[in-house]
Amino acid sequence: MTHRSSAQPATDREIRDVATGQPLPPLLHDLAEQARAAQALAYAPYSHFPVGAALRTEDGRVFVGANVENASYGLTVCAERTAVFQAVLAGARRIKAIAICTNLSPPAAPCGMCRQTLAEFAEEAEIVLLSPSGPAQQTTLSALLPLAFRPSALITTESSSQAEDVHGAGK
Ligand SMILES: [Zn+2]
Repeated sequence: MTHRSSAQPATDREIRDVATGQPLPPLLHDLAEQARAAQALAYAPYSHFPVGAALRTEDGRVFVGANVENASYGLTVCAERTAVFQAVLAGARRIKAIAICTNLSPPAAPCGMCRQTLAEFAEEAEIVLLSPSGPAQQTTLSALLPLAFRPSALITTESSSQAEDVHGAGK
């Protein structure tokens, strides 16, 4: 998926942060709207729990994702990871922000597997949790996954070029 710029100004349909009452900044508002739209892409015939995600990479590209379930339940992949994997396959290594939309209110937080995936590529990312309507909750990975197992635990000074990408020296 490529970037789709928001056709509407942020003030047209404000999404406020539940804690501060302030409107989301324009870039996060745009991601939030795209995460809401991405819910429609979900393949969730078993859980009936559609999830949409939209992330922005360091270079400004936006990728969306949705959960893809399977009759063999364990094969299900969450929305967050489908979005992250698309970004990584397109060459991105650093994610600046991600919005995740579920039908729950207050909005659901990412599962543990997705939190660990975000620790790999989105350690510093702004994270927005939201529902199809109503306020959003802004959070961080360190709040969602304290004491995370991070790439730095494995990467040595003789790191490969791929590892350097994780540290931002690459793309
Ligand atoms: Zn997940």
